[in-house]
Amino acid sequence: MTRTVDVLIVGASLAAAAAAKRTVDAGLETLILERQELPRHKICSGILSPRGYRFLLENFGPVPRQALHEPTYCRGVTFHFPSLVQLPMDFFGGTTPHLHRKYSDYWAIQRSGAEVMDQTSVLSVTDHENYVEVTARAKGGDTLTFRARHIIGADGPSSIVRRSIYPEYNKEIPWFFVGQKFHEIEECPLDEEYFHFWFHPELGHYTWSHARDGRQIVGAGFKRGDNFHERHANVAKYLDEKHGVKLKPADCDHEGCSENFGPSLLNTYILGKGNVLLTGQSTGFLNMIGEGMSCALHTGAIAGEAVVEAHKTNKPVHHHYRQMIASEVKRTTDQWNPLMIAFGKPHEADFPEALMKLPMKERILLLRDTWNFVVLYKEFKWGRKIMRESIERMIKGKYVDRRWL
Ligand SMILES: Cc1cc2nc3c(=O)[nH]c(=O)nc-3n(C[C@H](O)[C@H](O)[C@H](O)COP(=O)(O)OP(=O)(O)OC[C@H]3O[C@@H](n4cnc5c(N)ncnc54)[C@H](O)[C@@H]3O)c2cc1C
Repeated sequence: MTRTVDVLIVGASLAAAAAAKRTVDAGLETLILERQELPRHKICSGILSPRGYRFLLENFGPVPRQALHEPTYCRGVTFHFPSLVQLPMDFFGGTTPHLHRKYSDYWAIQRSGAEVMDQTSVLSVTDHENYVEVTARAKGGDTLTFRARHIIGADGPSSIVRRSIYPEYNKEIPWFFVGQKFHEIEECPLDEEYFHFWFHPELGHYTWSHARDGRQIVGAGFKRGDNFHERHANVAKYLDEKHGVKLKPADCDHEGCSENFGPSLLNTYILGKGNVLLTGQSTGFLNMIGEGMSCALHTGAIAGEAVVEAHKTNKPVHHHYRQMIASEVKRTTDQWNPLMIAFGKPHEADFPEALMKLPMKERILLLRDTWNFVVLYKEFKWGRKIMRESIERMIKGKYVDRRWL
């Protein structure tokens, strides 16, 4: 038997919780399908930006203790460079929570008030003129079918919703692998109140480390296809030799996943079509250094609001979504825009002030190191596209929507 609801959301994620909060509050029957058993694990550093933190507080209330890792907060970010220059930056407005995604996402989903079916994996999404049909596989293997007026794909980077409506898309963008291992600590001079990130081309495209629940995370990100264990070993060796980080061999619970960096830099978001909306990282929203929770929350809420508007006005949902999403596009793409970084303050920590605190010699080293890091991305031919978007943003005061799908 086919079940019919007003709104069906795929993925019990933060984007889903935010979208559901809007549709449930507006009185729409909302069902969330999640493939994993809840509360589910999500690979993530869990460092929430100040804006994301405000969103959680305003929409769902104070974050429960169970939804936090140790240390329970993060003071800011420290950038490291091959010349060993360090740039610590505190978040604006104080510390932010260090979220334990397994419990924070579940808590937000419960607070949204939506009905959830977990262990239900969506297989396909087919858009008809007046409704969308969804097939899913339930825990026991039964195939279920659903109908909804609108579908919101809040199902992360490898989104089945996106694959259903744009089957070729995944072949058209570069994919990265990010993986992390957990180590018992012998000695670690890296300040545990900060998230540490390396702009080092020899370590990879995305290199990070931070403390969690008494262990040290060592993470490596690179173009998909390379060997994670070798990449990780290279980073761990570097941390030992250059920063005096002495760690025991990695525990066995390492993990990794594919990531779609790129759409936010290039303003090539993929928002869906017809009665299907994409939100969060399935759309490509990702802030600088991979912070994706705040844009998942905000774009999720916007998707939910667009659905509510479409129900009220009977206009196509993308008429509303594409107008409403523009503010979040501006905020996210500004973070990557070199002109905004140089002349504006698009981040939630004061990069220009931290830079100016450094002696002139270190500033020059840092700029040289940053350039060498950016060259690592040359093969993707993003440079010209980023400059085109940046200049157009400067002239028009916004990012144009012609490259959105
Ligand atoms: C190693 C790493 C570290 C990170 N660190 C940070 C950080 O410190 N701060 C930060 O803000 N961001 C961080 N991010 C990014 C952040 O985790 C993501 O941007 C964010 O979780 C995206 O949220 P989302 O709501 O779009 O979807 P997700 O959180 O990806 O959730 C998608 C959900 O959809 C479900 N799903 C997928 N397919 C199906 C299907 N077929 N049927 C049903 N359900 C399905 C999944 O099980 C999952 O529950 C990190 C990411 C990684 C990989």
